[in-house]
Amino acid sequence: MTHIKCCRVCENKHIVEFLDLGNQPPANSLLKTATEKEPLYPLSLSWCPECNLVQLNYTVDPKKLFSNYVWVTGTSHTAQDHAQMFYREIVTRVHDLNKGYVLEVASNDGTFLQPFVKNKYLVLGVDPAENIVKIAIAQGIPTKCSFFGVQVAEEILKQHGPAKVVIARNVLPHVAHLHDFVDGLSRVLETDGLLALEVHYAGRIYDELHYDSIYHEHLCYFTLKSVEALLHRFGLFVVDINESPISGGSLILYVKKNKEAEAHTVQSYRDTEQKKKLNDLSSWQDFSRRVHVHREQLLKMMKEVTDASGPLVGYGASARSSTLLNYCGIDTQYISLIADQNPLKHKRYTAGTHIPIDSPEQVMSKNPKCVFILAWNFTDEIITILKKRFNYTGTCIIPLPNTPAMMSVCDYNADKRKKNEGSL
Ligand SMILES: [Zn+2]
Repeated sequence: MTHIKCCRVCENKHIVEFLDLGNQPPANSLLKTATEKEPLYPLSLSWCPECNLVQLNYTVDPKKLFSNYVWVTGTSHTAQDHAQMFYREIVTRVHDLNKGYVLEVASNDGTFLQPFVKNKYLVLGVDPAENIVKIAIAQGIPTKCSFFGVQVAEEILKQHGPAKVVIARNVLPHVAHLHDFVDGLSRVLETDGLLALEVHYAGRIYDELHYDSIYHEHLCYFTLKSVEALLHRFGLFVVDINESPISGGSLILYVKKNKEAEAHTVQSYRDTEQKKKLNDLSSWQDFSRRVHVHREQLLKMMKEVTDASGPLVGYGASARSSTLLNYCGIDTQYISLIADQNPLKHKRYTAGTHIPIDSPEQVMSKNPKCVFILAWNFTDEIITILKKRFNYTGTCIIPLPNTPAMMSVCDYNADKRKKNEGSL
């Protein structure tokens, strides 16, 4: 673990701490036994007065976090739908894709490359997790097992030439050596190629209090202003922006080497950020106050439910839920068991809070009275499963966005909730 001495993007030495979430275990390191001792690392955020990047103060060795990753993209139906939409968007924007190939950095199990393969386009994945790379290769996605950077970009260039499309979904915030990574992206991208960068948007984190997305793997929380400060260093320019339908508030940034192609959307994001003071320290200090209040509200709700009917069950042992559980101190006293669709997580225990995880079938066979939706960014999908597959009619707690909500699953209205969500 290293304590950063300067800003991760602009190297300014005077970054300002504004939020401390305490010592926490790595979010994805589920335990094999309930008695296992996990390492704890500080989880706190700073803001840079120069480029305004919001970032973690400590970097945990990535080899400790990623080499045996348990998250498999393809386990979520929402992710598969998103892969289809992503594919259609790319082929609409790049007309001569059949003359080149698509490179995906941090390609996980290859879910996002599958639609390209099905339509006879050439693809290449790069991912550092050995166990996941094996799954991708078995499913027909050629994948290089490696951490991406300049060296790997040069190897790929030598072997395959520059890529017409480079996809990097939810990986930029994970990268400790940002300059090496973005330099690599720039080198491997064709002069008129398209880079699709998906990042969790700090504007949504701020607006909707997504503090559960803060964990050791996410080193940076980008606004458009701070991501542009990084990209410009390597001759890359954001030319268009789409909101991603998953991950509870991510942006897909379309990036090119030629800034002339900029769509008006980009300037409107810049204007909104300025109007909302999203890049100011005072806004992030206010965020920190709202995080503390949220913990008090959630614990009060959890205590009322458990006092009345005993511990509840959770749904979705996502990495995001780890921060929420650990920061709020929600352990087996409040949640006895967590359901997850990913079989790699079954019979494991949550890090720090030691709550057992099992299949949705096992968990729902206990006839719970209340389900805590930990993977709240998949609430629509989870509530549909609860109602249709398990005929569940009880209560659910949805911790975020913003204030925690408790309601009967029968009263849950996906469209109404979406309308109530703020957006930047
Ligand atoms: Zn900076």
